[in-house]
Amino acid sequence: MRCTKAVIYSENLRYNLQQIRNHVRPQTEICVAVKADSYGHNAVLTAKLARETGGINWFAVATVDEGIELRENGITENIVVLSLCVPEEFPSLFKYNLIQFCFGKEYIRDLSQTADSYFSDGKRQDVFLAVDTGMGRIGCYPEEAGDEAVLISNSSHLNLKGMATHFCVSDGTSFESQTFTYEQYQRFCKAVENVRQRGIDPGICSCGNSAAIMNNPEMHFDMVRPGIITYGYYPDQITKEYLHSVHKDFDLKPVLALETKVVAIRHFPKGKSVSYGRTYFCDEDTDIAVLPIGYADGLLRRFSPGLEVTINGKKYPVCGRICMDQCMVNIGKNNLDVKLFDKVLIFGPKESGALTTADDLAKIGNTISYEVLTSLSKRVRREVL
Ligand SMILES: *Cc1c(COP(=O)(O)O)cnc(C)c1O
Repeated sequence: MRCTKAVIYSENLRYNLQQIRNHVRPQTEICVAVKADSYGHNAVLTAKLARETGGINWFAVATVDEGIELRENGITENIVVLSLCVPEEFPSLFKYNLIQFCFGKEYIRDLSQTADSYFSDGKRQDVFLAVDTGMGRIGCYPEEAGDEAVLISNSSHLNLKGMATHFCVSDGTSFESQTFTYEQYQRFCKAVENVRQRGIDPGICSCGNSAAIMNNPEMHFDMVRPGIITYGYYPDQITKEYLHSVHKDFDLKPVLALETKVVAIRHFPKGKSVSYGRTYFCDEDTDIAVLPIGYADGLLRRFSPGLEVTINGKKYPVCGRICMDQCMVNIGKNNLDVKLFDKVLIFGPKESGALTTADDLAKIGNTISYEVLTSLSKRVRREVL
């Protein structure tokens, strides 16, 4: 089996889920975002662990196919689909009982008509009404929520199960960011009120993402939707240190370790170049370790220069360009600490022995941990510990 793999520390996943459970009121539902194969962590595994830990029975996916994968692997709990799908996929929503986030008169009408022809009995498909309170992505405007809820509730085969909105700067700590988040929350409250005034039960109301779960406990409503914190990373400025400073301590443990092995050790003379483009030259005689991992595995090209990997408790720099399937590491001349086939940690939790995390890679690559994690490709085998 290939040595390049992602090891999932399920104990840490359980720990993070428990942290989330401990920080929301007992009556607040937790809908774990398992989209993008649980940010690269294996959606089925995460869902199964989550339902064992604190009885979590809501999961969020981005696509209908992701929902089907969960259903085909024994997940019978509630599944919401956060992104819109197209009419060709509507029958699958009904077949697999996937709760689509929807909005827009035309979209709702189409969905409703397909439901009418799909269900011959009185069955109704649950849906969520998405409200755009400032994200600028999907959702109706708050003042349209009443009308759209009426459309859903007048449909013979749809049921308004809940309402949701999504924060766009809840991961910022500035006064502006937090004020905007509060305004989004208030607009959402108005939208919910708008629906109530039409004599319709808004159902389960949900707005909190990871950042708001930790930093805005007053905005938890009926259901929160944790994503990144499930996998052990803090969203942008809502860091462990920040949360401590505002007396909202929240402890998380990274879940995934990206590992590989040294498959060659080369002796290079001073002045020899390494990898494509000849961007790196050895400034003295040195030994170079070759690793069988590259950008096709998700080790993005822009991580070099900058990336340091851990071998036997010490950090070494990746040198030259990261190739599609391989990269090179400068381990220094006659390094007795590094042998052929030694384990190499690209990033991971403390428990893995890694000295870097996905956040460190994100900084080097000018991105966020989300992208580092979801970039891990299918070729990287997932192993569960
Ligand atoms: C991805 C997503 C979440 C989870 O976001 P995190 O920042 O990872 O917690 C919640 N809600 C919606 C609508 C999303 O798209």
